[in-house]
Amino acid sequence: LVTLGLFAGIYVLTRLRLNFSALVLGALALGVGVGVVFEGHLDYVEPVGKIYLNLLLAIVAPLIIVSILSSITSLGTTAQLRTIGARSVGWLLTLNALAVLLTLGLALELGIGKGAGITVGDRDISALENIKKPFTEVVIDFFPTNIVSDIAETNVIPIILFSVLIAVSYSLIADRAPASVAPFKGVVDATREIVYKAVGFVIALTPYAVLSLTAVAVGRAAGQWSQMVSLLGVLGLAWLACFVHAFVINGVLLRVYADVSPVRFFRKLVPAQVTAFTTQSSAGTLPVTTRLLRERVGVPADIAGFTAPLGTTIGMPGCAGVWPVLIAVFGVNALGLGWGIQDYVVLVVLGVLVSVGTAGVPGTATITATTVLTAAGLPLELVAITLPVSMVADMARTLDNVTSAAVAATIVARQEGRLDDAIFDSDEDVVTEV
Ligand code: ASP
Repeated sequence: LVTLGLFAGIYVLTRLRLNFSALVLGALALGVGVGVVFEGHLDYVEPVGKIYLNLLLAIVAPLIIVSILSSITSLGTTAQLRTIGARSVGWLLTLNALAVLLTLGLALELGIGKGAGITVGDRDISALENIKKPFTEVVIDFFPTNIVSDIAETNVIPIILFSVLIAVSYSLIADRAPASVAPFKGVVDATREIVYKAVGFVIALTPYAVLSLTAVAVGRAAGQWSQMVSLLGVLGLAWLACFVHAFVINGVLLRVYADVSPVRFFRKLVPAQVTAFTTQSSAGTLPVTTRLLRERVGVPADIAGFTAPLGTTIGMPGCAGVWPVLIAVFGVNALGLGWGIQDYVVLVVLGVLVSVGTAGVPGTATITATTVLTAAGLPLELVAITLPVSMVADMARTLDNVTSAAVAATIVARQEGRLDDAIFDSDEDVVTEV
């Protein structure tokens, strides 16, 4: 009954046409309260969040495919595609490199891990040893093998490459014999409209899901405090680095390179940030991110539909920049290893490289951290030791990943001369219109 009452309350608020961002934030706050009060009695609250996550993930692959097919088939030239591609990758990697440097600076300055008194060598790390992949394999996995299995596993880069291949093939035929492929274009554009509409329905569920996911997360965390206490420093620093990167560094870049008000931008992005925070999946958040970029920020559909998905697998500053570097410095300090400048330079390079080909799902940073630590010659136990707080850090990491991908898309749109200032300056709250 309590559950029904809560969700009915949210429904009434939605009907009152409250600002969507405010509604989502309200649901987050309410979720904390519900989690604290009803800890252990959330069986009926939990399914709503899980259903939402399922629906989001269900729509991710169709959304990427139709967005890319429709945008490339509408694009005048392949040169345009090349500059959007190069700029997107450039900005995503730059944002990650800045996260690496920021984290390194903060962690060294604050001496994270000094006196932590940890020992290594007494844990079973065989599971971790199996998850790291050699770089050549990472590159091979970019290419689609079977589009159906890639869709089934939400492998974003192969899905993007496959869609680009089909779209470019269409364009080449359309140049010579437009009539023969015209029906394809019609189907693609119609499908895109339908998928966008479906995304709207799923996004309308965001406040309910945020309440559910937050309540369950808070309820669960309450039982794990003791495990977390000794690692609060790592957790606090992870949150600090992710938030400074997400808001301060991105804010400066938005101002300088996109010439927009960062505060206004972040206000518009709140539903995506809260979805990222509560679902811990940037791939899952993608439908929310691309819709906000298109309809509230003014990024054209082709750039939003290209750069944002790419940002769930390249860049990923929270997952590739902040977390592995933080654990590495924590380990160096805690174990009293005398690292010199050249070791830190290697760490920076590794932090940037590991951001290529990550996956925007919960807990991916365990894989990136394992890869970086192995390459840097640090014991993998450090990943195992920090695992209890990694899940909580994931909230901030995912928020940073999603925010940075959106920032990259906005800067690319501006540099292409295609950011729609009229949409950016408007206060219309289109996301609630399904
Ligand atoms: N959960 C993150 C994401 O989906 C990845 C990570 O940091 O573990 O972006």
